[in-house]
Amino acid sequence: MHATIEQPEIVEEHRSAINRRYVVRLHDGAAVESVLYRGDSLCVSSQVGCAVGCPFCASGANGLSRNLELGELTGQVAAIDAALSSGATAGVRRVTVSGVGEPLHNPTVPDFISWCRERGTPASITTSGGPLRRLRAWLSPGAPPHNGISFSIHAGREPTRARTVPRGPALEPLFELLGERVPALSGSRRRKLALAYLLLADLNDDDAEIDAFLDRAAPLGLKIHLYRYNPVPTSDQRQIGDARYEAVFERMRARGLDVRRSSQARIEDNGGCGTLVALRGNRQPRP
Ligand code: SF4
Repeated sequence: MHATIEQPEIVEEHRSAINRRYVVRLHDGAAVESVLYRGDSLCVSSQVGCAVGCPFCASGANGLSRNLELGELTGQVAAIDAALSSGATAGVRRVTVSGVGEPLHNPTVPDFISWCRERGTPASITTSGGPLRRLRAWLSPGAPPHNGISFSIHAGREPTRARTVPRGPALEPLFELLGERVPALSGSRRRKLALAYLLLADLNDDDAEIDAFLDRAAPLGLKIHLYRYNPVPTSDQRQIGDARYEAVFERMRARGLDVRRSSQARIEDNGGCGTLVALRGNRQPRP
């Protein structure tokens, strides 16, 4: 497969101790953000905006404008790789489609994953899980050659899921599909899957909610990523305190699960999870 690279233009670069956040302008004047973590792992955006509407996330605060084309996906990698090649950094060694947008809503993402594979760059995605027919394809023989899928769950009970991931699939059919497909995968494929739980104060952080999530998650035996919330200007959601975060971490571990905490790269103001924004055409990037 040969992708036509309509290379987006890097119009801003913001550096912090761990991350480099790039604002990339697309051919129609819209802009999305990409983030380089740890010097060689690139988080790319798949849509201008997002239709899922998670209330804690800046990326979908203005709804969905459009899908990125294949050349705009590959172009994020190419543009940033080219920018890095002039410095001391090695270049893009890993890719994750975890920036602005829901990857399963963009039917071009599988071709992008294949392009990454041809380039020798492992590529993973983060998804809220829908549409389920597309998720089924990602978990079946002949799936795009991905290097991992992180499922954004953020709830144990349906009313909470409807608040945290408003236009993602409900928990019941999502876990039914995971329960069907995950045991059919090889051990090495299963180890590349993870369930993500973003702790949101007074929304999904009480013991009953956590236990309901664990009841669904434990039979799958997948890794759990327990994330802290990054405040964004588009949400009045509050962070949980350190003590509660640690208590939830221990509660999950007590169920015998492999639980990982947020890395520093994910909780940085500069490019942390949920902080990336999309701008429609002819608007100025944020300061
Ligand atoms: S968290 Fe992901 S799925 Fe939810 S609105 Fe943000 S980009 Fe979309």
